[in-house]
Amino acid sequence: MNTYPLLVSQDLVFRAKRTTLLSSVSALNAAVAGLDELTEENVAQAVSAVEAEGFSRAIITDPYGQVLYDTREAGNAAGRYVFYNELVEALRGSSAMYSVYKEGAFHSSAAQPVLYRNQIIGGVYVYEYDTQQAALLENLRNTLLSISLGIAGLVVTLSMIFSRQLTWRLASLQGAIRGVREGAYNRRAVLSGHDEFTQIAGEFNDLVDRLQETESARRQFVSDASHELRTPLAAIRLLTDSILQNEGMEGETLREFVSDIGQEAERLSRITEDLLRLTRLDSGLADAPVRVEVEPVMERAGRMLRPVAQEKGVDLLTICDSGAAVIATEGELHQIIYNLGENAIKYNHRGGFVRIRAETGEDATVITVEDNGIGIPPEDLPNVFKRFYRVDKARSRAAGGTGLGLSIVSDTVSRRGGSIWAENVATGGSRFTVTLPSVEEEGCP
Ligand code: ADP
Repeated sequence: MNTYPLLVSQDLVFRAKRTTLLSSVSALNAAVAGLDELTEENVAQAVSAVEAEGFSRAIITDPYGQVLYDTREAGNAAGRYVFYNELVEALRGSSAMYSVYKEGAFHSSAAQPVLYRNQIIGGVYVYEYDTQQAALLENLRNTLLSISLGIAGLVVTLSMIFSRQLTWRLASLQGAIRGVREGAYNRRAVLSGHDEFTQIAGEFNDLVDRLQETESARRQFVSDASHELRTPLAAIRLLTDSILQNEGMEGETLREFVSDIGQEAERLSRITEDLLRLTRLDSGLADAPVRVEVEPVMERAGRMLRPVAQEKGVDLLTICDSGAAVIATEGELHQIIYNLGENAIKYNHRGGFVRIRAETGEDATVITVEDNGIGIPPEDLPNVFKRFYRVDKARSRAAGGTGLGLSIVSDTVSRRGGSIWAENVATGGSRFTVTLPSVEEEGCP
């Protein structure tokens, strides 16, 4: 940026010099042009009539370079031979011009041959030494230099300020990330402003919110699961201790104790099975969904539930629209119908009824499981799908429940893109409604 204007100005000065020097040298040449031979006298006479200016010194020589005329007073070269480059060129027959900027001054020189009938009879040489324009140029250079230095200083200062600010913001974000990585889930990135860093910090904070939720749900689940496992284990321990401590235990009591141990072991295995099912659902590992006919699956679930219903004195009815189908796996559909049906029987009165129904909708199949049993208190309705949640713990346990059946159903349904909700029916009892897609999504095999 600095050099370009300087070069341009220098070039302009050179051009101006060239024009003035060439016109001066031509004017002097024209003055002596009519002479057939150049001598000190006739040259001085011819030149005195010419008003040429714009140079510091003018020299006219004979064809051998001997000076016949010199404008310089101090150090006049008359009678001596001079061999300036431009003059030598001129004496060889061609015009020459040279201009250079050196040590704060413009040095310019021009020379032309003096011809008489196409014969070189001498040379005209003009030289100019200019410090005025050079001073202007120097001034311009200094001004440009100070402006550039000022701009450079400003740029460096601003860059430092911006980069420091940037580094600070990055470090603050990094600190928050490191904190969360080391387990401080309550740590958040605090950045003000509206730039990309603030957006990233916002995204990061949302991510950590979710992480915190997942983490606390995980902790809750682990603690609930351990608690659920501990109860039957403690019971087994107690029963075995009693048997071991009572050597003379009656055969009948012993049988009772051992059967209780068996029941607790059965409960343990049910809980672990349900836990495994949930873990599998969480991990997202599942068979590819296919079109499953609801009717045969419902019949199979009905066959398995009927003895339970009979035992409880509950009437079980299954109704299915012909051709009803869902996009899931057979196992999943069976699990959904079985769990909901089993609950409806478990939480029912003797003489009650359970109706399981599948209806085909436009692009979903609706499965409803309705009973006229004990119902669910309205305040518990939003919670029944949570893991280990039971309205009446003792009743659930007595009925062999694990508190995981509805979570498994709800996780399965949402994984297959369906929905589930529970409500109480006006006549008493509750109704669970499941919708599952019956048309394969585009792009799915
Ligand atoms: P559980 O193994 O205890 O049955 P679930 O997850 O299947 O666990 O159900 C959660 C709770 O919801 C049950 O403990 C019960 O209190 C309530 N519940 C579920 N289904 C019904 C129903 N059909 N009628 C009344 N209460 C129900």
